[in-house]
Amino acid sequence: MQDASCIFCRIVRGEIPSSKVYEDEQVLAFKDIHPIAPVHFLLIPKEHVPTLSEAQGKHESVFGRMMVLAPRLAREQGADDGFRLIVNTGRVGRQEVLHVHMHVLGGKEPLGSMLPRAKA
Ligand code: AMP
Ligand code: ZN
Repeated sequence: MQDASCIFCRIVRGEIPSSKVYEDEQVLAFKDIHPIAPVHFLLIPKEHVPTLSEAQGKHESVFGRMMVLAPRLAREQGADDGFRLIVNTGRVGRQEVLHVHMHVLGGKEPLGSMLPRAKA
């Protein structure tokens, strides 16, 4: 269920401090330590699932819960006119922390474009 050395599992266990935004029996949300937007927090399953590529039917409930919670928590954090969800996955997705996490990003002003478009 948990990985001893995983940094996000350690945050779940309270071994590493975090700025908590929300917690229940299945999920935890905490502010990103290096925010790239006025609102930037991470929403994670408490269970150690390394990447979204490992998602299975048994995860439908927790991942569904994260999706439903994201807009509510975004609003509560001040992103009340839209936000962006990012789930970096694997090598191509440039995932750095191997414990599934949803970045929730927003603020009062529109964010930058999603990815730069290749020049024509
Ligand atoms: P990713 O590239 O999607 O794997 O992003 C990992 C994110 O985790 C980065 O935005 C980091 O700033 C963030 N992060 C790493 N360690 C911590 C920590 N101890 N507390 C909060 N956020 C963290
Ligand atoms: Zn973990």
